[in-house]
Amino acid sequence: MSQTAAVPVLPNYIGGEAVPSKSGRKLPVYSPTNGELIAEVPMSTNAELDVAVRKAAEAQVAWGQMPMKNRVQILFRLKTIMEEQADSLAEIVSRENGKTVAEAHGSVSRAIECVEFATSLPQIAAGQVQEVSRGVECKMLRYPLGVVAAITPFNFPLMVPMWMIPLAIGCGNAFILKPSEQTPLGGQEIARLLDEAGLPKGIFSVVNGDREIVEGICDHPLIQAIGFVGSSKVAKLVFERGSKNGKRVKALGGAKNHLVVVPDADPAMTIANVVASATGCAGQRCMAASVLLAVGEVDHIIDGIRKKFSEMRAGVDVGAVISTTARERITGYIARAKEQGGHVSVDGRDNVSPDAPKGGNYLGPTLIENVPPSHEAACDEIFGPTLTIIRCKTLEEAMKIENANPYGNAAAIYTSSGQVATYFIERAQAGMIGVNIGVPVPREPFPFGGWHDSSYGAGDLTGHGAHEFWTRTKKITTKWSDEHRSNWMS
Ligand code: NAD
Repeated sequence: MSQTAAVPVLPNYIGGEAVPSKSGRKLPVYSPTNGELIAEVPMSTNAELDVAVRKAAEAQVAWGQMPMKNRVQILFRLKTIMEEQADSLAEIVSRENGKTVAEAHGSVSRAIECVEFATSLPQIAAGQVQEVSRGVECKMLRYPLGVVAAITPFNFPLMVPMWMIPLAIGCGNAFILKPSEQTPLGGQEIARLLDEAGLPKGIFSVVNGDREIVEGICDHPLIQAIGFVGSSKVAKLVFERGSKNGKRVKALGGAKNHLVVVPDADPAMTIANVVASATGCAGQRCMAASVLLAVGEVDHIIDGIRKKFSEMRAGVDVGAVISTTARERITGYIARAKEQGGHVSVDGRDNVSPDAPKGGNYLGPTLIENVPPSHEAACDEIFGPTLTIIRCKTLEEAMKIENANPYGNAAAIYTSSGQVATYFIERAQAGMIGVNIGVPVPREPFPFGGWHDSSYGAGDLTGHGAHEFWTRTKKITTKWSDEHRSNWMS
């Protein structure tokens, strides 16, 4: 690891100010692209979290009383600022996360889309009113929850926080972000952007840290709701601990996504799509293809995938994985697959471009074949640019394998038959289904989220209906008529 003389120690953002953490505990942040030490991130204490939450609660009172139409004006400004700064934001995402700049640009565009969607909150979140009895009216109004928090993963340092922040603050909440300690620069950028957009102080805070802060968020009495995105193990812990403390928690977890290819699939499109799904963002997407279920005679498609995989070079065509530890974990899967009789037909350990920046965590696309469906390479979330191919005789056999996995984030089929696609859509046990699309991300207003171990808790963090997660309702019954006729409501 190369080290430069002075690297910034990142501050927290509390009460609208950059506040250095008093904690002596810090972690280094290395760029996955070249191993450069780019920052140090403090592991804040729960006392610091408490200050942030209390300041947020104070600021939220006036913010929550402001009409929603006024609040979203900040989001219109945020969108413009993000568009103007998209290039520099993409550079930062690429530098701290290891994605290619083009991929980072894609994630910035998605973040902007989330802001855009939240600007329509006043239209989406309009209340309901009905005359329920003669002269008696019921209406339902939505109110902010107060202080809410999010805990986010390393793989989309700007986009995943932005799934939640615009909607939650647009609904009138104050928001505490605990970014991934592996990619903390995104949170710093969001604080700066919101400040530039004119968000009142204290409505958005960043508290850097690790497990201690996550547990503190789950336990803090003034935090009303938590949005978590990360691995299933931690999603479950956060869901259980936060729920036990009476909070509203939605926790999105990990994934093992299956793509099914049947003989009538369009070969060129399928090959390009499967390769992009498995290798984009170096396989570090919760929507990445991880297992290819090859049904019947589809050798021509597998040959094409093999060819493309072998032509791609890490460091040029594929970005870096997040850390040396992650690279070791992924190469461990490849080595064990080989030792245990699998055929590693394309070994990404050999496919790093000579032009790749030195010191980066590069690993080329890897194809693992001839392992049984029960093998770890076909079951675990590897979270790298690997694809495991399992041959199946029938679509039913493929569906059985797909549906037996404990995750349920995404699943996709490649076919030119509407009937086959419908059969798949109806039976696949996953929350996000693709037909001839390998990364079936539902775009706003459709919410993002999976089933089973990929998602804990009710409701949605994004899309249509997400305002329900970020608000609570009042049901108001009024009678302003002078009628004396009594009914049970009088
Ligand atoms: P992670 O679970 O390790 O970390 C996520 C957050 O939890 C981080 O902020 C981290 O500081 C915190 N954390 C980690 N260990 C903890 C512990 N023991 N106790 C309390 N907090 C802890 O996830 P990651 O490695 O940063 O991200 C990759 C994972 O996120 C993958 O599993 C991926 O599938 C998943 N992911 C899911 C979605 C989705 O929408 N379902 C989206 C993006 C990423």
